[in-house]
Amino acid sequence: MPATRLFQTSEQSLREYLRAAQVRACRAAAAGKVSAQVPALAEVDPTRFAMAVATVDGAEAHIGESDARFSIQSLSKLFALCALLRHEPDAWSAVGWGPSDAGYGSVADLEHNQWRPRNPFVNSGALVVTDRLLMHSGDTVAATVELLGGRTVAASDARVAQSETATDHRNSAIAHVLAEHGRLINPIDVLLPQYFAQCAITASVRTLARAALFLADKDGDRAVLDPETVRRVNAVLLMSGMYGAAGDIAYRIGLPAKSGIGGGVLAVMPGRGTVCVWSPPLDSAGNSAGGVAAIEEFARRAGWSVF
Ligand code: GLN
Repeated sequence: MPATRLFQTSEQSLREYLRAAQVRACRAAAAGKVSAQVPALAEVDPTRFAMAVATVDGAEAHIGESDARFSIQSLSKLFALCALLRHEPDAWSAVGWGPSDAGYGSVADLEHNQWRPRNPFVNSGALVVTDRLLMHSGDTVAATVELLGGRTVAASDARVAQSETATDHRNSAIAHVLAEHGRLINPIDVLLPQYFAQCAITASVRTLARAALFLADKDGDRAVLDPETVRRVNAVLLMSGMYGAAGDIAYRIGLPAKSGIGGGVLAVMPGRGTVCVWSPPLDSAGNSAGGVAAIEEFARRAGWSVF
């Protein structure tokens, strides 16, 4: 069979899996609730849905509003971390790599860990990542957008950034505690606006699935980071990308994944590809209810699991 034929067949089955995943997602989303943590995000229609898959051999498939841009929020933590690791491969010593069963905004957890963040995906770790990336790049939004594929596919939404700036106390508290213990390089009033603008980046599921492919590519063709760093990022994602639900996600799905309160979830199957979902209502762990259900269904049908 010619290679092109095989390729088409595989895209066809990917589309089939996506259709099944969408059905599961719609049911699960009905039980979730759109986040009100950032007021501007609470206005999003809970029935919106998009899903895209990209494979390391170049196949792509998508369903729903796959070109609609949504607020990536904490998905930005993954791309900012990778951008930082390009400048500073040893950044792990500043942000940690272990799991945490506390919420992503926990100040107590920071105290229990002698003021070093547990990992780059809780907010204290993400603030340290942004702080260091700011030192290296001068603009963390630009560095993150570049990794996502550039300004034609991703940009920060000033209204969402402003909405978080106006209502946030938690990130500001965490930043003050980090500064008190000498963990920050930049002044807080420089760091926080960068961090909020970075969380407010919008991109589509197609853009995100494509941009994350370097995390699935063992051959290093799309070498953004060296293979050892990619392995580490995936390990930390598996343990901490979905906050308190990480164990549940490892048990049910078995893929490194990252979520954001905008309703995005991005999962990586090393050696195979990436899958990204957008479904705004969140479950009690703060992860997209429809997104988790969709990835579970897709991964089961596609045979994607690292275990
Ligand atoms: N901007 C939010 C925050 O920093 C992002 C949280 C999230 O998506 N989990 O708290």
